[in-house]
Amino acid sequence: MRGFTDMVARLVADRRPTRLVACLDLDWRPAFRVEALPSYKAHRVPGEPETAPAGLPEIVPDNLEPQIPVILDVLAAAGIATGGADGYEADDVIGTLAAGERTDGVLAVSGDRDLMQIVRDEPVPVRLLYVGRGLAKAEHLGPADVSEKYGVPAGRAGEAYAEMAMLRGDPSDGLPGVAGIGAKTAATLVGRFGSWDELRAAVDDRTDTRLTPPVRSKLAAAAPYLAVVEPVVRVAVDAPVRLDRSDVLPATPADPDRLVALAERWGIASSIERLVKAMAKAAA
Ligand code: MN
Ligand code: MN
Repeated sequence: MRGFTDMVARLVADRRPTRLVACLDLDWRPAFRVEALPSYKAHRVPGEPETAPAGLPEIVPDNLEPQIPVILDVLAAAGIATGGADGYEADDVIGTLAAGERTDGVLAVSGDRDLMQIVRDEPVPVRLLYVGRGLAKAEHLGPADVSEKYGVPAGRAGEAYAEMAMLRGDPSDGLPGVAGIGAKTAATLVGRFGSWDELRAAVDDRTDTRLTPPVRSKLAAAAPYLAVVEPVVRVAVDAPVRLDRSDVLPATPADPDRLVALAERWGIASSIERLVKAMAKAAA
């Protein structure tokens, strides 16, 4: 909770946002994704052996979960909005809020590379501050950056990133990908097509020379996976998001007495103080 509070304080002080939402996983492994692909995050189910490579982000340490209610208390006392959608992940909440925004530029802050897919320029700039390697090594990414980093087309970098991820797979999420197709080939393939549907249609169309015979047979062998993976990987842009309060970041805490009590109870007074100062600074 100290790390989270310090990170929010740091972001608020540096970025001075007018609006802020802490997005929650109301379901970290939604049924609609598991029904499409049973292996989705299966290795992260409690009691199942941990098979993901060590050190990957997104794997929640056991001692974090009991701290979440305290974090939510701190956010509420500070007056910072939380957003969630029943049956959806935080990824989908972020995706939905970003897709629906028409007024302000959006900066999504996440250590989950799945969020690369939400970057765009219109109608408002949507950027990702990728913190998978910590805030000190954060990367600020827009469509041109995602295009350059992954070799996907710049004109539709976000969408194309998701398509590259579907082909490549992602062990941290239990996504097998297409056997024999790595990140580079995946990006090249995605770049030859204007959409996921177009790429999939080419697998069955032997006259389409954008697929070489060996690549076509690899894709054909993965047909059942390719048929279901799209809603697993794409973040929802229509999740039923509810905010617990206005997303306008207040200059002063909503409940200062409660914030003082939480600071004392949990020994996080200096972190809380940094957060309160950052909020005042952002509003100045
Ligand atoms: Mn994710
Ligand atoms: Mn992921």
